[in-house]
Amino acid sequence: MNHRPNSLHMSDIAHSMHPYTNMRLHEEKGPMIMAEGNGARVTDSEGKEYIEGLAGLWSVAVGFSETRLADAAYAQLKRLPYYHSFAHKAHEPSIRLAEKLVEMTPEGLNRVFFTNSGSEANDTVVKMAWFLNNGLGRPEKKKFLSRTKAYHGITIASGSLTGLAGNQKDFDLPAIPVTHLSCPHFWRYGEEGETEAEFTARLLKELEDTIIAEGPETIAAFIGEPVMGAGGVMTPPEGYWPGVVEICHKYDILVVSDEVINGFGRTGARFGCEKYGFTPDILVTSKQLTSSYMPLAAIVVNDKVYNAIADNTAKLGNFGHGFTGTGHPVSCAVGLENLNIIEERDLMGNAKRLEPLFQDGLRAFADHPLIGEIRGVGLIAGLEMADKKTKQPFGKPGTVAAKVVALAAEEGLICRNVYDTVALCPPLIVTEDDIREIHTRLGRALDRALEWAK
Ligand code: PLP
Repeated sequence: MNHRPNSLHMSDIAHSMHPYTNMRLHEEKGPMIMAEGNGARVTDSEGKEYIEGLAGLWSVAVGFSETRLADAAYAQLKRLPYYHSFAHKAHEPSIRLAEKLVEMTPEGLNRVFFTNSGSEANDTVVKMAWFLNNGLGRPEKKKFLSRTKAYHGITIASGSLTGLAGNQKDFDLPAIPVTHLSCPHFWRYGEEGETEAEFTARLLKELEDTIIAEGPETIAAFIGEPVMGAGGVMTPPEGYWPGVVEICHKYDILVVSDEVINGFGRTGARFGCEKYGFTPDILVTSKQLTSSYMPLAAIVVNDKVYNAIADNTAKLGNFGHGFTGTGHPVSCAVGLENLNIIEERDLMGNAKRLEPLFQDGLRAFADHPLIGEIRGVGLIAGLEMADKKTKQPFGKPGTVAAKVVALAAEEGLICRNVYDTVALCPPLIVTEDDIREIHTRLGRALDRALEWAK
């Protein structure tokens, strides 16, 4: 590691506070500084090139050197670099992107509200649900249902919906009324002798029992990621999502599909809800929306949600919510161009076409002694480092997965350890050769980790 005086490394150690980082360890270890990107690859400040196996943070669909997005941003910066959407103001990029999102999302989702991040979007969803229920004269209908190991962000409300101890401990979360139901991960939580269908039935019974016990009149919404991402890449058991939606709608509970990772082809379908056969009342998207070239998230709601909110704004005279950056013109211009590229180059189709190569190649590691389960769909996958029989991690939780990720970086592959799982989520532009290279580099890292663990 480069610890030269006056280097970027030393400056970072002296001045920066990093998210998701042990800050004391960082003072010793210093940063890995990324200098440039090209396609599915990035190069660090030492000149070492990596395949970005996690597309940044599950997000850079079109790769790291798409000049059309740079051009779209520059053109918008010159024409109208900023304008807001408060109090009836509007501008072309946010109008066009809202129109595009309504066209792309499932039938019935007709109105769009923009925020700067996925966390802000989910906080906004909570406030929308509260606002509309107050407007409908049912002020007690406020609770959210979420799941253990869910990731919905880190702000006060979204961080409460998140179901991971690491995001809540010492942050005094949850801070809003939320009940976390069981994580729908069959391999880990299925009981001895239970079939996948029985597991689904048990989880759906838990959902309905919880609604009845807490009172349907107290529950506003159920939120979930179709495929759970940052909690460890968990695909849902057969029949889970249609069952959840049926029960929620029976009790007039809104269903929110958090597609911040799932959206725009990641699962091999356009949206995760389409992959798993349900239509939510509210769909949240971000990340691949702009390929993260600019910060942007969008909430797309159905008419029932929109009308209840709109009626209450008419009653109160205002929707007292919104950000300076809501519908930022540069972010929206980049988002629009990004979605055009995704469609023109059929990148969602690319994810579907490459799914067998990507997933089967990973499943070829199934017998590896360090791997408990390999799971995933489309171009997203997780390899859980655990004993195959006991399903317990080896040694201190998270250690082996962190080692695999560190060795993979040495082999020229960036991936991410989320707890005991090594997560992969490459850019949608990857080629067959890139995928084979991901498998090769990961295989070397796994073998080196096994040597290290002995
Ligand atoms: N929802 C999901 C499903 C996510 O994966 C994330 C981020 O990873 C978020 C919400 C929060 O988004 P942000 O980091 O932009 O606040």
